[in-house]
Amino acid sequence: LRASLLGVVEKIRNSVLLDTRDVDAIIRDLQRVLLKADVDVKLVFDLSERIKKRFFSQEIPSGFSKRDVLIKILYEELVTLLGGENTTPYVVPKTPYTIMLVGIEGSGKTTTAAKLAKYFKEQGYRVGLIAADTYRPGAHDQLKQLAEKIGVYFYGNPHSKTPLAIVEEGVKELTSKNVQILIIDTAGRHKDEEALMREVVEIHESLKPDDVMLIIDATLGKEVSRQAAAFHERIPLGHVIITKLDGSARGGGALSAVAATGARIAFIGTGEKLEDLEPFVPQKFVARLLGMPDLEALIKRFQAVEAVERERAKLIASGKITLLDLKEQLLEVRKLGPLSKVLEMLGGSSLPLKGSIEGSEEEFDKWIAIMNSMTQEELLKPEIIDRSRMMRIARGSGTSVRDVRKLLDSYHQMRKLVRQLYRSRRRIPGLNL
Ligand code: GDP
Ligand code: MG
Repeated sequence: LRASLLGVVEKIRNSVLLDTRDVDAIIRDLQRVLLKADVDVKLVFDLSERIKKRFFSQEIPSGFSKRDVLIKILYEELVTLLGGENTTPYVVPKTPYTIMLVGIEGSGKTTTAAKLAKYFKEQGYRVGLIAADTYRPGAHDQLKQLAEKIGVYFYGNPHSKTPLAIVEEGVKELTSKNVQILIIDTAGRHKDEEALMREVVEIHESLKPDDVMLIIDATLGKEVSRQAAAFHERIPLGHVIITKLDGSARGGGALSAVAATGARIAFIGTGEKLEDLEPFVPQKFVARLLGMPDLEALIKRFQAVEAVERERAKLIASGKITLLDLKEQLLEVRKLGPLSKVLEMLGGSSLPLKGSIEGSEEEFDKWIAIMNSMTQEELLKPEIIDRSRMMRIARGSGTSVRDVRKLLDSYHQMRKLVRQLYRSRRRIPGLNL
């Protein structure tokens, strides 16, 4: 999945025009990649339509290219596909906490139980493992050895016939030792699936675990949806862990199947070793899929622009003018040519800034330099600019505190004027408010 998504990103980056034809070709590539990775057909279709619609209706903010915008939209849509905006890794909300692992044989339950134990132990918890797989020969010993290796508590009883008895005994014994997180490894193979499900339901009813995690093998592709549904019908699934995502080209099936059932992916397994477990955060995962080291920076830049736009929309709606508006107006005016000409063009005398900048190109550039040294926050909320900020701004712009103060005074004067004008619903020539 990753290798082929890289190809899509590459294509976006190499595309010059990004017109309808280019975008269609890119979307077709994307569809091929996702379908090949077993992502559900309808999900793929919806996603493609949304990407196109968003791309062709969105304005390209200044400082960004069309390519940036398309990559950002692709990123956001893939994040949504994989479970949306949960940016926080899995947390244990209370102790003691019981986690029951379910899943078919070979999905990686026992390995994942040990990985989780190690993960939580490293967070400082007292962790215990309970071996409730009484079917697979050696299951008890496998988990016991892993527990010893990691150095966590273990409970098992190879002579007990019923998994339910083991779980009940194990919880009693381990909680008496103040174990905080109990992880229960269950069986995955039965002669018939119904018997397995009955056992899972029985343990679930008696134990009432705080979380049930379904372990799913990414290499199984589409089969994953059926499995997830079968378990989901019988017991409420809290979370999903997708294993064997290392080297699996078909991980998309698992990822999207899970997203479609509404269960959250808590972790992913990326190898056979005990440290190969990662908390699943869609944003990070997608960033890695898209293979762009600078993606995070790009997304941050977009978010910053969006935040500023929201803030400004609010201010403008309430009739306020910010330094950011002033700065942009000055830059606009600057583009028009020499200042004296511009003032003439604007009919000079009615411009509120005239008094402060008249005849002085230098003054004008000084203002822009000063505002370039201000932070976004200062431009939006000039009232926070105290003396120490003034000193910093003066230093940064090669001006003096007096210059900064002068600019702020002019700004305040102008703002007053704008308010008055706003109240009388008139507009200032040259200022598009
Ligand atoms: P169980 O039957 O569900 O308990 O599955 P096991 O934990 O015994 O694992 C079955 C096989 O999958 C073992 O060979 C594991 O080493 C392997 N396995 C588990 N998780 C991963 C993973 O994330 N990546 C890879 N490559 N192999 C894994
Ligand atoms: Mg096992």
